[in-house]
Amino acid sequence: MKLTPKVVKKMKINEFIGKKFSCECGREHYMDMNAIVIENGAINKIIDVINKYGSKYPLIIADSNTYKVAGEMLESLLDSENIAHKEVIYQTKCSLVPDEEAMGKLILAVGDNTDLLIAVGSGVLNDLTKYISRRTGLKAVIIATAPSMDGFVSDTSALTIDNLKTSVSCELPKVVLGDVDILKQAPERMILAGLGDMIGKYSALTDWKLSEIINNEYYCATTATISAEAIQKCVDNINGVKKRSDAAIANIMDGLIRTGIAMSYVNNSRPASGCEHHLSHYWEMMFLFQGKEALLHGTKVGITSILAGKIYETFAQEKVDFTAAIRKARNFDASKWEDNIKQFYGKAAAGILKAAATDNRNCIEKRLERIETIRTNFTEITKLAKTAKTASFIENIMKCAGAPLRPQDVGVDETTVHNSMLMAKEVRQRYTILNMLSDLGLTEKYTEIIDDFIKK
Ligand SMILES: [Zn+2]
Ligand SMILES: [Zn+2]
Repeated sequence: MKLTPKVVKKMKINEFIGKKFSCECGREHYMDMNAIVIENGAINKIIDVINKYGSKYPLIIADSNTYKVAGEMLESLLDSENIAHKEVIYQTKCSLVPDEEAMGKLILAVGDNTDLLIAVGSGVLNDLTKYISRRTGLKAVIIATAPSMDGFVSDTSALTIDNLKTSVSCELPKVVLGDVDILKQAPERMILAGLGDMIGKYSALTDWKLSEIINNEYYCATTATISAEAIQKCVDNINGVKKRSDAAIANIMDGLIRTGIAMSYVNNSRPASGCEHHLSHYWEMMFLFQGKEALLHGTKVGITSILAGKIYETFAQEKVDFTAAIRKARNFDASKWEDNIKQFYGKAAAGILKAAATDNRNCIEKRLERIETIRTNFTEITKLAKTAKTASFIENIMKCAGAPLRPQDVGVDETTVHNSMLMAKEVRQRYTILNMLSDLGLTEKYTEIIDDFIKK
């Protein structure tokens, strides 16, 4: 069977995994997983999973919260079947950071007899476990405790290395168990974060298409459709989120996993992450440097998605002065740029300067070429910007679920938002509308627009 946008719309979640598909985009897509179970009571399937892999001594990885939520239940299930096991439990007074220390603790817990990794949690615990799975060759199973982020089945882990948030290649989990009875008891902010991460796919998909037009970047319409359908599923049930209906919670989890599948199909996070994620990553770094308690990833992404909506809807009406853009590009001042990186990124500046030295991001010739491509394809780009979801469209969805709408609602101050508009495009080497604004010399203008917008 050949994958096309039409075909993937009808596929059930388990039909995407474990077999190779050829796709309309010309590539083959494959996801090396065995099972995804999203249903009430899914945790009980763990015994079958352990038996299937012949595990005699699994390692349970949890933190003090997730241990209470599902770890205890897991242990009693294992005890009742006389399955010996060991556990590593992070004591988390504040949020766990996936850094060198956390990774070290986990690798020390892996013993000679460990034959399976079972992560009980979402987010950071998944990222750590999937990375250790890659390093050790041990299979990983995830028991999700909250539908809070889309990384359950992505083959990259977001780790904090030398203070810089870094995407690192990791192993896919073999099985994900999403027990709806457990997921629906997750704290409200985590469920809303999952929704926020899903809402971010709107601008992520537009950014991906934008980069295809400007940079001729690889784009797979089928994979983009998987992601778009996943958002639609969440939005269809939006009224059930506040009530925590089984269907609404299961659909958010399903959506998060489907975008993970989309990411794995193309081996990058394009179907799930664009400018809204870059803005969010910048906020996250500033919180870390300032010693502030981290916000949930999807909480930020939901809010930055509204900003992305505002940026796209404004650009849809933009009249670009290409002569001015070319002049600005020619006058690019590399040393001023470097000073800015040091000023705005603080401890993370070294990592960014190192990356920039190899990826050619400030090459004036390349920028001039892109400006030319934007000029040639301006009608198509404007048309694309008009298809992007507007800020008010996204706000209405989030309001319905009771999610925060403005940076200030979650403690992100106006200066951080302002600086992120100026500098977030440097977080990753990935072309989004923020890069296009920079190419066109419009960064400052749009920063002011967002400065005003968030006051409303
Ligand atoms: Zn494809
Ligand atoms: Zn995300």
